[in-house]
Amino acid sequence: MTEKFDYVIIGGGSAGSVLGNRLSEDKNNKVLILEAGRRDYAWDLLIQMPAALPFPAGKSLYDWKYESDPEPYMDGRRIKHARGKVLGGSSSINGMIYQRGNPMDYERWGADEGMETWNFAHVLPYFKRLENALAADPDDPYRGHDGPVKLERGPAKNPLFQAFFDAAVEAGYNRTPDVNGYRQEGFGPFDKHVYKGRRFSASRAYLDPIKSRQNLTIRTRAFVSGIEFDGTKATGVTYRRNGKNHTVSAGEVVLAGGAINTPQLLQLSGVGDAEHLESLGIKPVVNLPGVGENLQDHLEAYIQYSCPQPVSQQPSLNKLRMPWIGLQWLLGRKGPAATNHFEGGGFIRSNEEVDYPNLMYHFLPVAVRYDGQKADTKHGFQVHVGPMYSDARGSLKIRSKDPKEHPSMVYNYLSTEQDRREWIEAVRLTRNIMDQPAMKPYNSGEISPGPSVQTDEEILEWVKQDAETALHPSCTAKMGPESDPMAVVDPKSMKVHGLDNVRVVDASAMPYVTNGNIHAPVLMLAEKAADLILGKEPLKPEYLDYYRHGVDLAEAGVVKS
Ligand SMILES: Cc1cc2nc3c(=O)[nH]c(=O)nc-3n(C[C@H](O)[C@H](O)[C@H](O)COP(=O)(O)OP(=O)(O)OC[C@H]3O[C@@H](n4cnc5c(N)ncnc54)[C@H](O)[C@@H]3O)c2cc1C
Repeated sequence: MTEKFDYVIIGGGSAGSVLGNRLSEDKNNKVLILEAGRRDYAWDLLIQMPAALPFPAGKSLYDWKYESDPEPYMDGRRIKHARGKVLGGSSSINGMIYQRGNPMDYERWGADEGMETWNFAHVLPYFKRLENALAADPDDPYRGHDGPVKLERGPAKNPLFQAFFDAAVEAGYNRTPDVNGYRQEGFGPFDKHVYKGRRFSASRAYLDPIKSRQNLTIRTRAFVSGIEFDGTKATGVTYRRNGKNHTVSAGEVVLAGGAINTPQLLQLSGVGDAEHLESLGIKPVVNLPGVGENLQDHLEAYIQYSCPQPVSQQPSLNKLRMPWIGLQWLLGRKGPAATNHFEGGGFIRSNEEVDYPNLMYHFLPVAVRYDGQKADTKHGFQVHVGPMYSDARGSLKIRSKDPKEHPSMVYNYLSTEQDRREWIEAVRLTRNIMDQPAMKPYNSGEISPGPSVQTDEEILEWVKQDAETALHPSCTAKMGPESDPMAVVDPKSMKVHGLDNVRVVDASAMPYVTNGNIHAPVLMLAEKAADLILGKEPLKPEYLDYYRHGVDLAEAGVVKS
C-alpha cells in the first residue's frame, strides 16, 4: 500500500521547517517532510557551536557542494556554492546573521503586476510573527516579540566594532539602533540566530518544539528524485532511502529544496522549458521557461586589515588555543565559540542614484576567509562587502535526467555596468571609512586587496580573482502572474502555474534578491505561504512609516502619519 499524506514537503530546510510546523498545526493535516540530509543532532558541534560556522561548508556530510560553471565575467573562475544538506537546511550551516532586507525591497516586489500583497505593509506582520527579537524594546511596533525565532543582538563589544562605527560616522554616515527596525540605513549591531551560545536554526525554532505531533512525519536521508504526475496533477513523490526507492502519495506537493534543488527537481519532473527538457528526453508536463531563470545572488569580497593592537580575535584561530575555547563552550556555552562574530555592520548607498542602501557591510574583528583560511597577521579585522541588488542575472539548467548530477549554473557576476561600478564604489568607500581618525589606532595597513590595487581596472581585476558568493542564490522560480511568461509561482497561492497541486515555497520564489542576507526573507515568505496554502485569512497589512533617504513617506502620502 502506498502511504498517503495531505502535504509532502520536499526539503526540511529553512522554509521546509516553517511549513512543517505551520501545516501540521491542524491535527487533521497529515504532513510529511522528506529531507535528503541527516538530522541536526544536538551533539553535532559543527552545527551547534556558532563559531564553528566555517567547518560544515565543503564537507559532504553537511553540504551539497555545488559549483558554478566557469563564470564568463570572472576569467572563467568556478564559484563554490555551499548549501545545507541536513535538517534545518542552510540555516544549520549558515553564518546566523539575521537581516530582513530594506522595506523598499518589498515595495519593489509589490510594485510588479499581481504582487500587491507582497509589499512591505503585507510582509511586515509575517516578519513580526516569526521573530522573538530579544534585544528590541518590547513596545517596538516594527519588531516581533513572541515568535518562534529567538534573536540575540551583537553585542559588538570588541573595541574594533566601536572604532568601525565611529569611523563610519566620521566618514559621513549615520548610526542606526536597529537595521531591522524603522531605519536600515546606517551602522550598528546586528541580530543573530544565536540563543544562549547555540545556533538557533530554523529546525530548532520550528521543528524541535513540535516533536510530539503525531500528524507530522520527518524522514531524513530521503533523497527526492521526482514528482509523479497524472496530467497536470501531482499524484506522488519518489525518493530514495536506505538504498531503496519509495513513492508516497501526496494531496499537495510543496517544493522547499532551495533555489538550486527546487528548479532542478521541477525540470527533472517535466516542469520547465519544454525544448530544453525534450532535448534531454524528458516529457514536458508543462512548458514553463522561467524555471531556473532569473538566478540572483550576492557576490562579496573580504577587505582585510592588520591591527597593531592586541584586541582582535585573530589568536582564537590558533589551533593550540582551540581546545580551551571548545571547553569553555562545552562547559558553559561561553567564550569566543559562543558567537558567530558577525555582530555588527551597516548599510549605505554608494551613489546618489540609488534610492536605498545598495551596499551591506559585515564587520569581523578577525581577518579570515569564510573557508577558515586566515590572513597572515598577528591581529587583524575585515569587512565583507558587495553590491546588494545587482542587475546581473544567471540561469540554472539540468544537464541530464540523473537527479544526482548537479545542474549547470552560471550567475554572470560582474556582467553589467551597474554591477562593476558598484564594486569600484564599494572598495573605495570602504577605504575611506578605514582611513578615518577613529580607525587610525587600529589600522596598520590593508592586507587585501592591498596598496597595489588602486585603479578601477585593478579593483575589478582583484574582485574577479578574489570575490566569493555570499551564499544567497535565489529567485529561480519567481512569483508573478500567469501573464508573465517567466513567472513560475502564483503569488496568491504559491502554486506552480499550470499545475493543480504543486507549490514552491523557498528562496526560489523570491522575485528579486533583498539587500541583505536572505534567511529572514525566506522564513517570512514561508510563514506567509503557509497561510496561503491553508486558505487562512492573511495577516492584516501594517502601514508603518520607515526611513527612506530624502523622502518623508507620511508627507508623500505613502503611509499614514
Ligand atoms: C554557508 C552559508 C552561509 C550563509 N549565511 C547566511 C547568514 O548568515 N544569514 C542569512 O540570512 N543567510 C545566510 N545564508 C543563506 C540562507 O541560509 C539560505 O538562503 C536559506 O537558508 C535558504 O533557505 P531555503 O529554505 O530556500 O533552502 P535550504 O535551507 O537550503 O533548504 C533546502 C533543504 O532541502 C533539502 N533538499 C534539497 N534537495 C533535496 C532532495 N532532492 N530531496 C530531499 N531533500 C532535499 C536540503 O538538504 C535542505 O535541507 C547562508 C547560506 C549558506 C549555505
